[in-house]
Amino acid sequence: MTATVAPVRLEEFPLFVDGRRVDAKSGRTFESQNPYLGRPWARIADGGPEDVDVAVAAARSALDGEWGAMTGFQRAAVLRACAEALTAHAERLALLEVQDSGKLLREMRGQMAALPQWFFYFSGLADKLEGRTIPPVNPNYFGYTRREPVGVVAAITPWNSPLLLLTWKLAPALAAGCTVVVKPSEHSPASTVAFAEVLADAGLPAGVLNVVTAWDRATGAALAGHPGVDKVAFTGSTATGVRVAQAAAANVNGVTLELGGKSPQIVFPDTDLDAAANGLVAGVFAATGQTCMAGSRLIVHADVHDALVAKVAERARTIRLGDPTAADTEMGPVANRPQYDKVLGYLRSAREEGGSFACGGGPDDALGGLFVRPTVVTGVGPASTVVREEVFGPVLAALPFTTEDEALQLANDTPYGLAGSVWTTDVHRAHRVAARLRAGTVWINAYRVVAPNMPFGGFGRSGVGRENGLQAVDEYTETKSVWVELTGATRDPFQLG
Ligand code: NAD
Repeated sequence: MTATVAPVRLEEFPLFVDGRRVDAKSGRTFESQNPYLGRPWARIADGGPEDVDVAVAAARSALDGEWGAMTGFQRAAVLRACAEALTAHAERLALLEVQDSGKLLREMRGQMAALPQWFFYFSGLADKLEGRTIPPVNPNYFGYTRREPVGVVAAITPWNSPLLLLTWKLAPALAAGCTVVVKPSEHSPASTVAFAEVLADAGLPAGVLNVVTAWDRATGAALAGHPGVDKVAFTGSTATGVRVAQAAAANVNGVTLELGGKSPQIVFPDTDLDAAANGLVAGVFAATGQTCMAGSRLIVHADVHDALVAKVAERARTIRLGDPTAADTEMGPVANRPQYDKVLGYLRSAREEGGSFACGGGPDDALGGLFVRPTVVTGVGPASTVVREEVFGPVLAALPFTTEDEALQLANDTPYGLAGSVWTTDVHRAHRVAARLRAGTVWINAYRVVAPNMPFGGFGRSGVGRENGLQAVDEYTETKSVWVELTGATRDPFQLG
């Protein structure tokens, strides 16, 4: 007798275009994998460039229609309704993200609970997009500026925090009056479709937010370079960001790029080593190290190097790896097979380049999924691969220093500049070092804190532009200058001004 295995029923996620669930024009789908269970859990519409065309057209007609006609006060009310709806659906959205990416349910619950803050914050800016009156040089004229939506925004997001990183783009874009087409990562596409449905049900008009999922990266490229798009907002790797910027440049479009990082955590000997060790663990092992802002380089004073490395390693060895939905799990699997292979490759290179592991150093095969043990690498130099390249996994590389200048030289010796921290009880040193760190965000005696009203973005190859904060709305507006002739007289047509 042969046993029959019941087929696993996959949840279906079509595209979401013009306020409706629609199949990809090709009829194709692909499966999304649950990295903890190691099997597919959802079937996703595989959109192509032809679906991008329809989504961009829907976004354009919403801009030219109901959404474009709304006042800032009306858009603010819609944003507030979106915030309320997201609160109501936080649990389902959190579970979708966990199934797609293997991130901890408790972390995703926290992230989903925070999303409404972004919608509330930017709703407060939607009705404050004021221009200026400009004093005339020529008294026969009066001038003023208007702030208008830049238009149709292409948003392209990575797999590590799809909804948070979409929200960082969407909330200011909607406040500014733009419409959006989003292409989530092929590795975690499901939650974005569900999110768009929640917002549509909350009252976001059809066509204002459209979702095109796809397996083939050509679909993202088609969106980034689409002639019907007016601005591209991208979060992902630096290599892809460069391609996205090139595609946008072909249409003379502006970009916001939130890219990779290799962020330093500088620890001075006067600091509380327990607090620093805790911050290091939060900075590089939370979310399995798969965050752009991971504090993956420990730059520590030689006097406390061994003691601090021992503390971090001791804590790292007790991190509970396992089922991301279990309440006591502290670290889930790596989110997908290519990323898992990449992280193991970096551990091999660290060993080959003379490094040793204070803890971790390889996979945790006992758990069966894509688990990598939290790792601290010592004995590597500033030129080694694991110090220079973004691992995007639970790997911390430690480098000793002896003077403040040397600490800063090591910290700034990177093409990236996303974030960093300084751990010290000396208030003078804390601000001095914060000012000299070339990074978009510096935490003093803290790590991995973000908020809707604090700008976030990178120096150097970590990006262009800023998300969050008052400035984020500027990324989605154009300034129009309006001249008014005051005399009513007929001018000399051959005289300027
Ligand atoms: P990725 O660059 O591989 O992909 C990002 C997105 O771009 C995906 O949706 C992908 O399908 C799409 N894409 C791929 N090729 C494209 C192309 N030619 N044109 C347009 N779109 C294309 O990045 P990833 O592996 O999904 O994410 C990890 C990276 O994201 C890391 O480098 C990480 O540091 C970075 N990241 C940065 C931030 C930040 O705020 N700075 C936040 C999270 C992640």
